[in-house]
Amino acid sequence: MKLFQKILIGFVLGAILGAIWGPGIEWIRPVGTIFLRLLSMLVVPLIFSSLVVGVASIADPKKLGSVAGKTIAFYLVTTAFAITIGLLIGNIIQPGAGMNLVLEGTTQEAAQTPSIADTIVNLIPSNPAGAAAQGMVLQVIVFALFFGYAMTRAGEKGEAVLSFFKGFAETMYKLTGIVMEFAPYGVFALIAVTVGTHGLSVLVPFAKLIFAVYLGVIIHEVFIYSGMVSIIGKMSPVKFFKGFSGASLLAFTIASSSGTLPVSMRLAQDNLGVSNTISSFVQPLGATINMDGTALYQGVCALFVAQAYGIHLGFGGQLTVLLTALLASVGTAGVPGAGLVMLTMVLTSVGLPLEGVALIAGVDRILDMARTSCNVTGDAACAVVVAKTEGELAEVKK
Ligand code: ASP
Repeated sequence: MKLFQKILIGFVLGAILGAIWGPGIEWIRPVGTIFLRLLSMLVVPLIFSSLVVGVASIADPKKLGSVAGKTIAFYLVTTAFAITIGLLIGNIIQPGAGMNLVLEGTTQEAAQTPSIADTIVNLIPSNPAGAAAQGMVLQVIVFALFFGYAMTRAGEKGEAVLSFFKGFAETMYKLTGIVMEFAPYGVFALIAVTVGTHGLSVLVPFAKLIFAVYLGVIIHEVFIYSGMVSIIGKMSPVKFFKGFSGASLLAFTIASSSGTLPVSMRLAQDNLGVSNTISSFVQPLGATINMDGTALYQGVCALFVAQAYGIHLGFGGQLTVLLTALLASVGTAGVPGAGLVMLTMVLTSVGLPLEGVALIAGVDRILDMARTSCNVTGDAACAVVVAKTEGELAEVKK
């Protein structure tokens, strides 16, 4: 049986067990936690080694520049589309209308809105080992890029380092395969706990919000990703979504782009034919800065909160939401729930009450699942598009 089928079975059985057992299912949580820890264990060494090798294999500075340029352009454009879709849907469906909530004074602290200058300064790790230890993925990426570039300039001695990292990256890739064997059990436990503790009934008042976010994500994937993959990548969208479905489903379950990264990279290379070089560059970067699902969710949620409290959010306000959500999604870490924290930044930027965050928190996990799945699919779509334009996309017959 294919791994994806096993994961799906784990997912369905886990949901059923959770629904039957209820909150008492908590005892099974350690099984899920072990799986999550195994995945996070892979992240830093995998990102570092694969990026170092990735940079070295695009050692030609012209090529590196063009890959980086295309990747970042793709990320910004698709994210802007995502927020626009989120805002449109929020205006049409009006998920928060009729809630008639009344403000009782703001209590929560807003997340500090980082200035653009701070965002750039924070990219540079003052201590690479510290950045790795704290899981500051963006800083690890920056160090890996510098390191890989310097390595290619270090002549013969640099080559020895490169061959070490090639072996290292290959080992991490194998280790990913081993960890994935455990995925069906981890997914089973995680879903059982989620359904068991939240139950299906908590969803009712927020059904519209959930519907709006899910609809937005589907529209974004069906139109934007399919369009880009088929027009620029010359790949059938069916093949794309099918080949990548294992990673989309895993992201949906664990709600973490970083945690899904090892699997996303593997599937993009094995099933979609993206070269190792492009995948190693585009996907780790995307798992950190490219969050279309999160951006879309922030657009919908800003409107949800405004409607719930009867506050009018005009065109200017929505434009501000677009800009801050773009920045916020870049700064969102690829871990569960990070998007909710960054939502405070978006709400503050247009003066919406931060109680909105508490309101959404109850169903955030369900929204997180959809947005994370969209986040990783966007990275894969970008990998396909960039690989095609760089002549790095192989034909995979499957
Ligand atoms: N969980 C999301 C991710 O890892 C981030 C978010 O909370 O929006 O991609």
